[in-house]
Amino acid sequence: MDISFIINHLGEDRDKHDGSVNPPIYQTSNFAVKSVDEFRNRIQHEFESPFYTRGHNPTVAVLRKKIAALEGTEDALIFSSGSGAIAAAVMNVVKEGDHVVCVEKPYGWTNFLLNTLLVQYGVTTTMVDGRDAENYRKAIQPNTKLFFMESPNTMTFELQDIAAVCKIAKENNIVTILDNSYCSPLFQQPAAYGVDMICHSATKYISGHSDVVGGIVCGSTERMKSIFKSEFMCLGANISPHDAAMLLKGLRTMPIRVEQSARTAAKVAFYLEYHNKVKKLHWPFSNAFPQKELAKRQMKSGGGLMSIELDVEDYNQVDTFCNSLRYFLMATSWGGFESLIFPIAAFSKDKASHTHHLPWNLVRLYIGLEEPELLIRDLDQALEKI
Ligand SMILES: *Cc1c(COP(=O)(O)O)cnc(C)c1O
Repeated sequence: MDISFIINHLGEDRDKHDGSVNPPIYQTSNFAVKSVDEFRNRIQHEFESPFYTRGHNPTVAVLRKKIAALEGTEDALIFSSGSGAIAAAVMNVVKEGDHVVCVEKPYGWTNFLLNTLLVQYGVTTTMVDGRDAENYRKAIQPNTKLFFMESPNTMTFELQDIAAVCKIAKENNIVTILDNSYCSPLFQQPAAYGVDMICHSATKYISGHSDVVGGIVCGSTERMKSIFKSEFMCLGANISPHDAAMLLKGLRTMPIRVEQSARTAAKVAFYLEYHNKVKKLHWPFSNAFPQKELAKRQMKSGGGLMSIELDVEDYNQVDTFCNSLRYFLMATSWGGFESLIFPIAAFSKDKASHTHHLPWNLVRLYIGLEEPELLIRDLDQALEKI
């Protein structure tokens, strides 16, 4: 299906709403019916029709249709955060006594879910270096039910060969989940490689305006129904109709924004790669990236996130670099209009107290929608200060 058709027209049902070009925001918790028969019908079909907004809401349903089409899956569920979406997808697959194989260095709360929270419920996880798909096979135990991927991750961008990991999973009857937030559905379509469930932090590229927190799980109708009648309805991490409308608004311009962010990122990466104060650049489409071939095979482009290891001796110099930037805002998250920096040095005070698994001199950059020349000039003057 054509991407521009999906984003601009699919699922809108405009005739039902006086031709309203945007779907109305159904700001209601409840939907009343006229007969017991209708009540009976609605209560039995909450997955596909409006009855109570924790389950189904017509505004949210438009987003569901579009996102599923963009990812090439049968359906999707929209959550109030990416973490809520990931937790629901994982919990739908595993139960007490089960085992998960997960890629190293996933998003922080994914790591917490697998290695702390679910441990309390008798689920165990083996973390593997996902750069070699065979590591997934080697970690399989008789009780392994799930392979979790995040390709690439959002700090140092190691990739998994998605097709290869899925093949091993299928041979062993193991479900696969992939966090596709970095790429958005535009730069990578994991369902085409056989991934069962695809998760997103919609907070990032899908919203694109740093004004909504949201999450998504995509997959088969069967799997979405299974999540719906359990984790989705019970944990209640549903998105509000208003926030769903905000995500729809973000989605309208997603191709333009994401491509602009990626184009500028390529220019910034090229500048940083050859700068003498930069010890190492991490960006999947850079010349020196070890998995560049795989990146070009399974991704359409590098995204707006990258990291640099500064060529510095102490913490003060990291601080000086970051504090000197004028146009990059210092914050977490990413995917909006504004360029950002995120220093790993913020996790500790000095080298001696540094226990984070990432290098203390690593600074993550998110490239937003400012002009590339402006950002490069800003980086240039800040790098000059160290
Ligand atoms: C931000 C992020 C999440 C969590 O999403 P929230 O919307 O913040 O809950 C999960 N995975 C990745 C890769 C992210 O960047």
